[in-house]
Amino acid sequence: MPPDSAALGPEQVGLCFTCRFKRAVTTRRGSTFFRCARAESDPRWPRFPPLPVRVCGGYEEAMLYVVLVHYTQPLAAVDAVRAQHIAHLERYAREGVFHAWARRDPPTGGVLVAAVPDRATLEAIVAEDPYVRAGVARAEIVEFNPANVRGAMGR
Ligand code: SF4
Repeated sequence: MPPDSAALGPEQVGLCFTCRFKRAVTTRRGSTFFRCARAESDPRWPRFPPLPVRVCGGYEEAMLYVVLVHYTQPLAAVDAVRAQHIAHLERYAREGVFHAWARRDPPTGGVLVAAVPDRATLEAIVAEDPYVRAGVARAEIVEFNPANVRGAMGR
C-alpha cells in the first residue's frame, strides 16, 4: 500500500521529486502518490520507494522546461478562469512538475518552470490547463537539458 502523501513536498519526497523516473498520481481526494518507473523493468527498485529518498543509484535529473504563456484574450477573460489555472498549477506542483510560476509584468502572459521526464508529458499537462482549454492563452514550451545549466543554479 503506497503512503498517503497528500501533504508531501520536495523535502519529504527527496530525490524522487526531481527524478525523471518518478511518476506521480493525484487522486480525486487530493492525495498524491509517488512511484518509481524503474521498478516496472528492474526489481532492484521498489514500486513505491519509502520517502524521503536521500540516496539512489538510479536517480537521473528530469528534463527542464520553461513554458511561456501568451494571453490571447483580454485580461478580464483570462482572470475569469485564473482560479482554475492556479489550482491546476498547484496540483502539478505537488507532483513535482511545476517548480515556479509568475504572471508576466506587464501582464501579457505567464512564465512556468517545469521538470518532467519528456516533452510529451508536459504537452499533455499544458493541454489540460484551464487557460488553454478556455482558449484565453497559448503556451510555448522551451526545453533545456539540466546537464547544460551553468551559473548559481547549475554546475
Ligand atoms: S530511480 Fe530512485 S530517485 Fe528516481 S524515482 Fe526511482 S527511487 Fe526515486
